[in-house]
Amino acid sequence: MLSRLKTDFQLSIITLLGVCAFTGVTPFVILRVLQGNVAAAIVDIVVLVSIAFGMVYAWITGDTRRTGFGLTVLICFGAIAAGIAGKAGFFWLYPCIVVSFFLVPPREAVLINLVAIVSAMIIQDDSFQSLTHMASFFATTVMTSVCAYVFAFRNYNHRTELELLATVDPLTGVNNRRSMDKALRMALSDALRTDRSYAVVMIDLDHFKKVNDEHGHSVGDEVLLSLVSLIQERIRKTDRLFRYGGEEFVLLLSVVDVNSLRMISANLQTIIRQQLRCREQAVTASFGVALLRENESVETWLKRADSALYRAKELGRDRIVFADNTPAEDGQPCQLSSAAN
Ligand code: GH3
Ligand code: MG
Ligand code: MG
Repeated sequence: MLSRLKTDFQLSIITLLGVCAFTGVTPFVILRVLQGNVAAAIVDIVVLVSIAFGMVYAWITGDTRRTGFGLTVLICFGAIAAGIAGKAGFFWLYPCIVVSFFLVPPREAVLINLVAIVSAMIIQDDSFQSLTHMASFFATTVMTSVCAYVFAFRNYNHRTELELLATVDPLTGVNNRRSMDKALRMALSDALRTDRSYAVVMIDLDHFKKVNDEHGHSVGDEVLLSLVSLIQERIRKTDRLFRYGGEEFVLLLSVVDVNSLRMISANLQTIIRQQLRCREQAVTASFGVALLRENESVETWLKRADSALYRAKELGRDRIVFADNTPAEDGQPCQLSSAAN
């Protein structure tokens, strides 16, 4: 849990919003009930429950993008509803404007803020004492939004750059091991919620050290780049390739059935064998494939793929080995099976 908070900025912001909302708004719910302003209390409770729902949704699905958007709309319009239920409620729009820049990209935040500000002025129900009062509200909310935008825009660009540096392998341009961990965890929670299944295919070039020794490191780099484009040209948009380290890659596949998994792996093996070249010499790869088991951790899932890869190397390289839970083509579970052509 702590590691997710550390690595997922959006999730940590959503969680922080939830905690702040509960500690900040709950006293007002009590106050409004004591003052007999039931309408305002109900608005606050609905907003709190919706924020809690958004938080739980983000934690379970990892979909912080959609949750952030939903929460931004909710808090901005929640503040307007609070303003209509009790005039002082409009003050809540100011922190909501600022928070929106943490939850969604800056342009979306500006748009939602403007719609919220204008909506507040249209449906204000005589909450403003005069036109000057309303004009001050407009000027101060727009100024808050513009200042937050300038800050958020710079921050957003820096964060995007940093995220790119932290998650993308500079040589090949594919995602690195850090983003692989996150993707595998998301696949695991998706498999728990739905009946989709996933597989990891660990791909390791054979005798790659020899390529470097004989032709130099830069030629080795070119082979790695060719390998990545060969794989990427042949996988679906939903499949994801990661550089696990050195000349080792991990492919995360959403699996329709075991036969298609076998077919994808076999196709990749053939393509690499036929088309991956280093100065006219063929370069081959070994594969370790593991289908996600029920209630398995990411660590054991990867470990099984790694053991299968190790076995492929032991058996002579340029082959595919399936981890021990992969059903055979007839649907029966099988022991480690190799597919050397
Ligand atoms: P095996 O068939 O057992 O996998 O043998 P191997 O030679 O491929 O494996 P080994 O682990 O002995 O060597 C891996 C080599 O990959 C050693 C290292 O120099 C090379 N390597 C790792 N990262 C890079 C890289 O970014 N560029 C290049 N050119 N070589 C790399
Ligand atoms: Mg190797
Ligand atoms: Mg290796």
